[in-house]
Amino acid sequence: RAGTELLAVDRLSVSYSGGSIVALEDVGLTVHEGEIVALLGVNGAGKTTLLRAISGLLGMHGGTVKGGSIRYAGRDITGAPSWKRVAAGISISLEGRRIFADLSVADNLRAGGYTRPRAQTARTMEEIYGLFPVLGKKRELAAGLLSGGEQQMLAVGRALMQGPRLLLLDEPSLGLAPLIVAQIMQMVTQINERGCSVLLIEQNVSTALPVADYAYVLESRRVAHHGPAAALMADDRLRDLYLGSA
Ligand code: ATP
Repeated sequence: RAGTELLAVDRLSVSYSGGSIVALEDVGLTVHEGEIVALLGVNGAGKTTLLRAISGLLGMHGGTVKGGSIRYAGRDITGAPSWKRVAAGISISLEGRRIFADLSVADNLRAGGYTRPRAQTARTMEEIYGLFPVLGKKRELAAGLLSGGEQQMLAVGRALMQGPRLLLLDEPSLGLAPLIVAQIMQMVTQINERGCSVLLIEQNVSTALPVADYAYVLESRRVAHHGPAAALMADDRLRDLYLGSA
């Protein structure tokens, strides 16, 4: 794999509810600088839990790291507060597009860039409108009036407002029509081409693998397979196992 290691998850174990629910066991995963890495697996495999652990949001969901470590840009961030991870360049766009429905598109974006200086925020907003022209056209509209696909774009745009080096995307295609999904994946590629590494959670193998460089498959709390996305795509057995699960 090309590029230096940006994120390295090593033998990570996570549990919920005081240890009674084990969600991840000995999970290892790396994202190299410049890569799009797909994280695949059926419902409940532990994908969201891994994103929470990487972004520092585990505690607010009642989860705890039981073992292992997370390194980012050469530093151990396993126990770092989430604001520090954001400041270091890790942004997350959550499943379910939790946007502020009553706020305008522009104000939703501004809210995403709250930690950064005003001038920088304005510049990044223009870049995002360049990437998602429909958001630019509807910038004064209440976000609740956007279509599902546009709301998803806004959720991704909001995560980009932090100027991330690593973008974590939790099922950006969830519940969207195939044409919109294709558009969103194209935007993920464009974001990546602008220098941002991406960890993309997907249930749908055929959505994620074509845009990914490398992929991991989580199966009941553990990494069951990993390899270059092209190799996983060529593996008939894997395709049969996971194509039907979307
Ligand atoms: P999905 O696609 O449904 O989000 P997933 O692969 O992301 O699935 P997780 O949401 O990470 O899987 O869930 C992994 C396991 O942890 C599941 O058994 C789930 O029930 C459990 N779990 C997730 N969140 C919590 C929580 N806040 N409290 C207790 N258990 C949880």
